[in-house]
Amino acid sequence: MGQTMIEKNCSLKAFNSFSIDARAHLLFHFKQHSQLPELLTLIKQMQSEKKPILVLGGGSNTLFCEDFSGLVIKVELMGVDKSEDPENYLLTVAAGEDWPQLVEDTVQQGIYGLENLALIPGVVGAAPVQNIGAYGIELKDVCTRVDYIDLIDEELKSLSNEDCLFAYRDSIFKGELKDRVLITSVELKLPKQWQPHCRYGLLQSIHETEETVSAQQIFNSVCRIRSEKLPDPSVLGNAGSFFKNPIVSEHLGGQLLSHHADMPLYPQADGTAKLAAGWLIDQCGLKGKQIGGAAVHKDQALVLINTGNATSQDIIDLAWFVREQVLQKFAVLLEHEVRFIDAQGETTLQQVMKDV
Ligand SMILES: Cc1cc2nc3c(=O)[nH]c(=O)nc-3n(C[C@H](O)[C@H](O)[C@H](O)COP(=O)(O)OP(=O)(O)OC[C@H]3O[C@@H](n4cnc5c(N)ncnc54)[C@H](O)[C@@H]3O)c2cc1C
Repeated sequence: MGQTMIEKNCSLKAFNSFSIDARAHLLFHFKQHSQLPELLTLIKQMQSEKKPILVLGGGSNTLFCEDFSGLVIKVELMGVDKSEDPENYLLTVAAGEDWPQLVEDTVQQGIYGLENLALIPGVVGAAPVQNIGAYGIELKDVCTRVDYIDLIDEELKSLSNEDCLFAYRDSIFKGELKDRVLITSVELKLPKQWQPHCRYGLLQSIHETEETVSAQQIFNSVCRIRSEKLPDPSVLGNAGSFFKNPIVSEHLGGQLLSHHADMPLYPQADGTAKLAAGWLIDQCGLKGKQIGGAAVHKDQALVLINTGNATSQDIIDLAWFVREQVLQKFAVLLEHEVRFIDAQGETTLQQVMKDV
């Protein structure tokens, strides 16, 4: 028997890491597959009333710009199935499992490969959506299959790694399949012959050699660096990196470098160049900049925080200010990584500012 878990006019404050006190018209806690018929009926009702539907994980990459006028489906499916072949461990992980917990558990069990992705907040079902990444590894490097419910034709489907069209903070779930997918589980393939990855940023200076380092050591270093560097959302509301690192043409990259010799620039295989959004914001002197209850973190320019009582409008105004400053100084347009949700569903910073 499915257990009904529907709340009306529900506060979303506890369900987003910015701690924005928006409300949802309806909230459905999707805890087990037996609730599916009930959920699909509710979805049909919403569709016939032309009300929006939002699939939510841990809310750590989501900014609620206003109250949500439709149905929020909070995915809380749990369970981890493990199997192995001679070369690999295969984990099929339910979408509601906590990502940081999964990473910690696998490392403890001697199953390695996720350690670079330690302490990324959120649940497993959200990880493929923006192809989470940190310290030189992305989900695409370990994910072999994504299982989902197609909310339009109500079928259970699967996509292979290639079909997910993973790219930097991007996937098919933000493109062609946007708004029609509820991811139920993710399959991860972790080779028994483990290869360390510690040639990235601070990890490189800590572990100079890949020959002797252990997965546990990488896990410990990533946890330590992240805890020192990033504000804990349970203390200071935030959604991690607010903006994506911009990709610019080789020409613009070269021009900028000729004026700012110390600018970090990462040449990409296709000839474009990736810049560090945090560096650009810092160069505009914006660390600590505050608008209402929202601020640019004093140490991490890429992180916008809720200092206590920020409204979503404070965060929107600050994000716009940052974007304009960087545009004026560097002619580089920052795109937000955080997903903006208004009453009707996903929107953008530009759209929200036009509507003001
Ligand atoms: C302190 C901090 C540090 C962070 N560091 C990193 C980092 O290093 N690297 C990185 O990549 N990200 C980072 N993030 C961003 C965030 O952790 C990731 O985007 C994470 O995957 C979000 O998970 P979530 O469950 O909270 O997603 P949510 O915010 O709930 O959802 C994010 C998006 O995924 C969709 N979604 C969620 N679950 C499902 C599902 N089951 N089916 C279909 N769609 C779904 C939602 O509709 C939404 O569009 C950080 C965030 C914070 C707060």
